[in-house]
Amino acid sequence: MSFEVDQKGFYGEFGGAYVPEMLYPNIKELEENYLKIIESEQFNNDFRMLLKDYAGRPTPLFRAQRLSEHFGTNIYLKREDLNHTGAHKINNTIGQILVARHLGKRRIIAETGAGQHGVATATVCALMGLECIVYMGALDVERQSPNVKKMKMLGAEVIAVHSGNKTLKDATNEAIRDWINHPVETHYIIGSVVGPHPYPDMVTRFQSVISEEIKVQLAERTGRDYPDYLVACVGGGSNAAGAYYHYLADERVRLISAEAAGKGLESGMTAATSLLGRSGIIHGSRTLLMQDEDGQITEPYSISAGLDYPGVGPLHAWLAKTGRATVYAATDEEALQAALLCTRKEGIIPALETAHALAVLEKIEPGREENVVVNLSGRGDKDMETYIDKLGL
Ligand SMILES: *Cc1c(COP(=O)(O)O)cnc(C)c1O
Repeated sequence: MSFEVDQKGFYGEFGGAYVPEMLYPNIKELEENYLKIIESEQFNNDFRMLLKDYAGRPTPLFRAQRLSEHFGTNIYLKREDLNHTGAHKINNTIGQILVARHLGKRRIIAETGAGQHGVATATVCALMGLECIVYMGALDVERQSPNVKKMKMLGAEVIAVHSGNKTLKDATNEAIRDWINHPVETHYIIGSVVGPHPYPDMVTRFQSVISEEIKVQLAERTGRDYPDYLVACVGGGSNAAGAYYHYLADERVRLISAEAAGKGLESGMTAATSLLGRSGIIHGSRTLLMQDEDGQITEPYSISAGLDYPGVGPLHAWLAKTGRATVYAATDEEALQAALLCTRKEGIIPALETAHALAVLEKIEPGREENVVVNLSGRGDKDMETYIDKLGL
């Protein structure tokens, strides 16, 4: 079975490019050029240099001694939280800004929910001196003011979207509308492995540096270049796709995806997309999608803003459907407790998204001799208010 994208942009039955006709030229231009660009020597030199000297890669693989003792196994944390801007998202925005430059684009647009992708995009636009417009739901603009302030300082224009539920899904619709209206000079930087082909594949390739490094670092540490378990949280699925990429065909590695159960799988307030979703189309691709009986997309909920998206990238829909990945869901409460445990055992405050990956360590039962890698996708600075409030600290 293949977990690589096929010629038409599909992973099994998921993926594709379901876009309105007016968007077709933009997608076509990207599709025809992205592999040529990514495989060019110039791109590779620039990408590698920026990952190293600007983002701070390679990120360490840390053996978490006290967490290992707690769970009776060997836990390694892949420290994506130590990247510039505090998460894995910068890997993708560096890659895409270079693609945009190769295509001669001068204007960058992006959507953002919690503001993390908006900040990562505004950051690379400042670096390259390109115009940056970020669409953000009006409700999120209110809830995420520190990130809005960062984007402004970085020189981006933040446009509050007042349609729909005023959150990520509406911001994405608005960004797509903008791209239709400015097809020639604009590149749209999507923030995860979602959207029409070639975005899921392109973003996966940029994030795959994570598993490339894990292989080398694990071999040094354990004499074996693969773990028994590889755990990552899945919102759209980019940090997980990057952590899994070089192990997709290696069945010795159990891939463990952590989704947000929110207040519980049966509560109606959840974002456990692959567990509860049905096949449908959102933002240009076929994937697993939370929807009601009439096919209306249902509003996701999670305490973590980075995980509350109603869909999941098509690669993850396929990994879940084929059983290549095992999907667990962690509730808000389980994630909060896991974040506290990681903080008190290792002195590392994880992002709330990441805390969902840590929370599923309770649910898998790795042996004493086995090795578990958890992708520590980001740091918790942005979540301090929630932690202090909800943990009663
Ligand atoms: C945005 C974000 C996520 C979720 O996005 P994916 O595309 O699923 O990786 C997870 N962790 C952190 C720290 C994030 O900022």
